[in-house]
Amino acid sequence: MTLPSVSPDSSPELSTRTIAYFSMEIALSPALPTYSGGLGMLAGDTLRSAADTAAPMVAISLAHRRGYFRQKLSDIGQQTEADVPWSPETTLPSANQIVALTIQGRQVLIRAWRFDVLGVTGHVIPVFLLDSDVEGNDPWDRRLTDHLYGGDSFYRLCQETILGLGGLALLQSLGCRPQVYHMNEGHAALLAIGLLEERLAGGQLKDATEADIEAVRQQCVFTTHTPVPAGHDQFGQDQMYQVLGHDRGFAIEHTGCLHNNLMNMTYIALRFSRFVNGVAMQHGKVSQQMFPESKIYSITNGVHAATWLSSHFQDLLDEEVPHWRTDNQYFRSVYGIDSARIAAAHNKGKLRLFATIAKRTGHHFNPNILTLGFGRRVATYKRASLLLQDPARLVAIAEKIGGLQILYAGKAHPADNAGKGLIRDVYASAARLNSSALKIYYIENYDWELGALLTQGVDVWVNTPRRPYEASGTSGMKAALNGVPSLSILDGWWIEGCAENVTGWAIEDGEDEAAEASSLYDKLEHSIAPLYANPSAWAQLQQHCIAINGSFFNTHRMLAQYFGNAYFPPPPTVHPAGTPPRRRSTDKPASEAALV
Ligand SMILES: *Cc1c(COP(=O)(O)O)cnc(C)c1O
Repeated sequence: MTLPSVSPDSSPELSTRTIAYFSMEIALSPALPTYSGGLGMLAGDTLRSAADTAAPMVAISLAHRRGYFRQKLSDIGQQTEADVPWSPETTLPSANQIVALTIQGRQVLIRAWRFDVLGVTGHVIPVFLLDSDVEGNDPWDRRLTDHLYGGDSFYRLCQETILGLGGLALLQSLGCRPQVYHMNEGHAALLAIGLLEERLAGGQLKDATEADIEAVRQQCVFTTHTPVPAGHDQFGQDQMYQVLGHDRGFAIEHTGCLHNNLMNMTYIALRFSRFVNGVAMQHGKVSQQMFPESKIYSITNGVHAATWLSSHFQDLLDEEVPHWRTDNQYFRSVYGIDSARIAAAHNKGKLRLFATIAKRTGHHFNPNILTLGFGRRVATYKRASLLLQDPARLVAIAEKIGGLQILYAGKAHPADNAGKGLIRDVYASAARLNSSALKIYYIENYDWELGALLTQGVDVWVNTPRRPYEASGTSGMKAALNGVPSLSILDGWWIEGCAENVTGWAIEDGEDEAAEASSLYDKLEHSIAPLYANPSAWAQLQQHCIAINGSFFNTHRMLAQYFGNAYFPPPPTVHPAGTPPRRRSTDKPASEAALV
């Protein structure tokens, strides 16, 4: 694999980095299998925007030497998984530091590999990938940083100990002293325990006071990413004491971090963070109901535009709004570009997608036919087969509108048998329904490159989660940037991104799946197909997607919101005694204000 080589003297001064970003997975390069899906993509896109906008960040993750997995699908859609091994030592420079951690009473040595995320003006965000495969470690410990989301709960707790406590120790050893620690999901929450230890400077955690905890809280920011309960890691108390030892276990138990008598990473992160947010407006509200004792904000996710825009759109924008790479607000200005040129750029993406599929699989798709895309992790709440609920109606629509093509892609977690069953269901439907009018095809091994090709090449992006489990979703944002409207359940980001018939279509809430599928078919038949048949109207729709949604659902905007609201919010104004704050004319009169 080819990656940019880094000379040691190009290292940014780590001591000037004020924000440390911790994430269990980060998608750094299509060549590195260090991510599984949306969480890792978001982390990578965040750091790419941080690099482009010269943010003073540094990041921590794990090396994941065995990767997530490569998906193989048999003739009937039976998924099997293959490791994607990679060798950090032949790919990346070492951080030249080894730190020691105590896990289960043993010393575990941790080293790190350094990946530099390079921004458009040359600014670098260093990412340290922690690695326990160090000579001298117990053979079992040497495998702890290998498998992303692999192993049992014991393995996971050891990994999360390495991420939080090992990551903090590494930063300390490198002379990096950030003011803000951002936990991207609860996996990294043990870093707060490390910060508490740092503050006590050798004293015992059991002697920590409420003031010590408050001091740690002032340093931490936490983003929660899912309303699905299984997404919140928890561990038995026995396991906690076994892995972390008595002092740390006791501290977690006695600072109010247990939930239902279990060690819960989300509750640790909530307890130790001064700012907590969900990843879309609605997700913040749903999280607030789940965790009423904490104040929860919302910062809606985005995507890194230069990572997800097709080369055809990049060329067009470089010509028309050249500063879009550092300032994504210029996407709003695509209204100044002739919509026919936007349609032409999209069409090139469609041709490239079909050429790639033909080359990989021998299957040919027609670029003149309406093409729907559905690509995402195959979890049951995402309901991959809602689109296939009523096969007779789907076939009838395909025949009536002059043909329909549906492209599927997505991996099921290796332990998710229900998810794997859904892939077989799509295969079975395709085998039954494929005809001259309707073509359904499942593409193997959804990953960064396939995700980009699909969101750049299909005509409509479909998303059918069961509400309210889609915290945000980001693939529809990639599509919007490329002029692709969404047909989606009003959940996650789509509640904010959907302007009906302008940026896409909402699948109406129904009593049951049949009712929601029926709404989906109605939109397809009566709204989407007639518009698609009118090329100039469709080109305007593509322009709206970029101007309205591309200009907002990007990580440049998202990161600016993290800076202004979470990392360095404006301090509360202190008014000298006796000087009342100036009131705006809309404020309540003083007499009324005094009553509330
Ligand atoms: C963008 C992306 C995701 C996340 O998309 P969702 O809309 O959240 O499903 C997952 N996997 C890959 C490969 C992606 O590119």
